[in-house]
Amino acid sequence: MSEPTPIPTHWYNIAADLPVPPPPHLHPGTREPVTPDDMAPLFASALIEQEASTEQYIEIPEPIREVYKTWRPAPLIRAREFEKALGTPARIYVKYEGVSPVGSHKTNTAVAQAYYNAQDGITKITTETGAGQWGSALSFACAKFGIDLEVWQVRASYNSKPYRRFLMETYGGTVHPSPSPLTESGRKILAEHPDTPGSLGIAVSEAVEVAAADPNARYALGSVLNHVVLHQTVIGLEAVEQLRAAGEENADVVFGCAGGGSNLAGLAFPFIREVLHGRATTRIMAVEPAACPSITKGEYRYDHGDVAGLTPLLKMHTLGQDFVPDPIHAGGLRYHGMAPLLSHTVELGYVTGQAVDQTESFAAGVLFARAEGIVPAPESSHAIAACAEYAKRLTEPEVLVIGLSGHGMLDLPAYHEFMQGNLVSTVGDVS
Ligand SMILES: *Cc1c(COP(=O)(O)O)cnc(C)c1O
Repeated sequence: MSEPTPIPTHWYNIAADLPVPPPPHLHPGTREPVTPDDMAPLFASALIEQEASTEQYIEIPEPIREVYKTWRPAPLIRAREFEKALGTPARIYVKYEGVSPVGSHKTNTAVAQAYYNAQDGITKITTETGAGQWGSALSFACAKFGIDLEVWQVRASYNSKPYRRFLMETYGGTVHPSPSPLTESGRKILAEHPDTPGSLGIAVSEAVEVAAADPNARYALGSVLNHVVLHQTVIGLEAVEQLRAAGEENADVVFGCAGGGSNLAGLAFPFIREVLHGRATTRIMAVEPAACPSITKGEYRYDHGDVAGLTPLLKMHTLGQDFVPDPIHAGGLRYHGMAPLLSHTVELGYVTGQAVDQTESFAAGVLFARAEGIVPAPESSHAIAACAEYAKRLTEPEVLVIGLSGHGMLDLPAYHEFMQGNLVSTVGDVS
């Protein structure tokens, strides 16, 4: 018997290894690279440092690893029954992040962000959330480190997915539907579009506005930024080791769903590290919903992270800061932009984008649930669908890894709709 895979002691920073450095974030007013002082009203000091770090490895503070112990290392599972169901010669492994207390990978960065804010003496954090996965992860983390949390939740999800709101409230968080009348940005949108379903971009504006106005408050983002991606690398660092412990030298292809890009980047970057150091030829597939296809249909340019233009300009694949996607069930994938670090690796050729339709993704999720017993989050099902399609075409064995970013136990109403045949196809709904 081999030793169990330990929880990583350091996060991996791909920026240190890439042949071309990632473009800097720009100040929204001056369009000059942002300085730590520009970011100080919004983010904890250690997070600002990590955002621009060129260190290859950054130590994970012991109190964070202590909390990680509740669910890490997260399992890497050989999906044999799923392989059989597909009739593929591939060996398929899933890295399962649904074992965290709130059921997704988002706790990996939530715990780190709450910890660093507590270190700075911050007493309140504001944030946005879509389906509520990020809000509940941060609510859990803020409860751990004694910080108040105020969440703006995209209205479509606030109304259709109340259970994660209840979870946020159970951990002590306060939740507002976005757009809300509580902020300048929210009031402006409500005046122009009273019936808007909301978007993550609008909710970010509201949370940023409130944090910027309060010296004891900071803002936290659940995806996209470099420090978030950094924290998520625990996924891939574990997976690379676990795959070796399972007797596999390398992965041929890694599939992950991409909303803001953090779970995929967190899983993929340690695999790309192996490629960059000449030890593997692993290809990475970033699977996005056809309804919000920032990599496959967006432009690669500087754009704002939010609707009001309060956040730094980020060089990324984007559908534009005003893009409001259809209210699809994979709420965590409804963001107009893609993590700058992930976008950069796409541009350098290490990652390929692929769009998957919502119906196809639910069909794969149901097939997976029946084969493996885990009901995947609708977000994760996009990666499963892309992997299934690829695996079915193989005639030779390959090693495939799927990032199973979360479970779908709070998304069962959407599964029910799918099984009733009530989900509409989202192909072509891009404009
Ligand atoms: C939030 C979320 C996503 C999308 O966010 P990324 O930053 O792209 O990882 C995917 N899956 C689940 C389960 C989520 O909660």
